[in-house]
Amino acid sequence: MTTLNQQYEEKVRPCIDLIDSLRSLGVEKDLALPAIAVIGDQSSGKSSVLEALSGVALPRGSGIVTRCPLELKMKRKNGGEGWYGKISYKDHEENIENPSDVEKKIREAQDEMAGIGVGISADLISLEIASPDVPDLTLIDLPGITRVAVKGQPEDIEHQIKRLIKKFITKQETISLVVVPCTMDIATTEALRMAQEVDPDGERTLGILTKPDLVDKGTEQTVIDIVHNEVIHLKKGYMIVRCRGQQEITNEVSLAEAIEREKAFFNDHAHFHTLYNEGQATVPKLAEKLTIELVEHIERSLPRLEEQIEEKLAQTQAELERYGTGPPTDPAERLIFLIDKVSAFTQDAIGLATGEELKCGDKLNVFSTLRREFGKWSIHLDLSGNNCECLISIWLLAWCRAVHQLEYMFVCCSQHKD
Ligand code: GDP
Ligand code: MG
Repeated sequence: MTTLNQQYEEKVRPCIDLIDSLRSLGVEKDLALPAIAVIGDQSSGKSSVLEALSGVALPRGSGIVTRCPLELKMKRKNGGEGWYGKISYKDHEENIENPSDVEKKIREAQDEMAGIGVGISADLISLEIASPDVPDLTLIDLPGITRVAVKGQPEDIEHQIKRLIKKFITKQETISLVVVPCTMDIATTEALRMAQEVDPDGERTLGILTKPDLVDKGTEQTVIDIVHNEVIHLKKGYMIVRCRGQQEITNEVSLAEAIEREKAFFNDHAHFHTLYNEGQATVPKLAEKLTIELVEHIERSLPRLEEQIEEKLAQTQAELERYGTGPPTDPAERLIFLIDKVSAFTQDAIGLATGEELKCGDKLNVFSTLRREFGKWSIHLDLSGNNCECLISIWLLAWCRAVHQLEYMFVCCSQHKD
């Protein structure tokens, strides 16, 4: 573990755990939580970067591979505790025993959520990994931007994917990691354009350059200028990483070995070694930077989050108060409570019979609502054959009849008036 990470360990853990626990409580339905989303064109290297950060193989290949947003929660454990994995989506939750099963499990989850084939879905798959070798970080992998629909894809696939990406990156609470291959002209990258659209000053956008080994000879200086933040300025700046190429995957180069190769690549590179010396290159440096960024981001978001939670709490409290107090726990008091409710209701009914207009809710006439509610109540009482409730039930039935008579009188009276 690096010194910097040690330094942050005490600060990082509580922050990330807090957000993860809020997320697992379902707070995200109402409020946006701080997160890092990975975006980029198809095959720009998004999954490779996530793979290198997490140490587990993720689904990849050519064409559309990431078809659902994948939330990757990484937790660093003490050495000796081994590896732990869990995947959850919809109502499904499953422990994963072996890192090598992750890829298969994600594919199964995607098939379940987005259907077998090439479609996409906006539903989140959540993957939790704990191991001594991962950073404390939560990242969301998103489907890559594609321009042309392939066979079996809806015509508007580009639009669908962009809409999904936008849903994540529009939130103030999301840091966007824009993945751009060194082989591409950064100025024309669609993902960067999208990030700039929602974050014009690049306050919460971080650029990641990939595939430096494939760079066109002679364009190295442009790449260096980009990483130095001199081409398209982003407040959070840029990092550059080298991941496993297709050949290395075919040759089964391990992720650990790939980290060593990456280090050697930058160290020995005639142009890029300066970036390495400046701490802007390699996956481990990226992990460090991301952890720091996420913690800072969480700390900055907390006051706003607290405000929103307070607001929501006040709203819910007010709504709760509208319903009045609930029934007491003591059975004797319960009867009194019920009698009080019934008397109050009777008052309303009398008021109604004397010509006062009484609405139930916004529009419904109180009688039609009542008939339905009494029906439900009667079924409930029939089903619960408890003695005490039996008494109440007889009493209620008599009382219902009285209300019906009242209703009948009321209708007769009004017809008479007409
Ligand atoms: P995604 O579609 O953005 O998730 O892209 P992937 O991570 O699936 O990568 C697409 C292809 O690029 C794969 O064949 C990777 O092996 C390859 N790739 C990714 N990063 C690098 C890199 O740094 N160098 C080389 N040579 N190939 C890479
Ligand atoms: Mg991918």
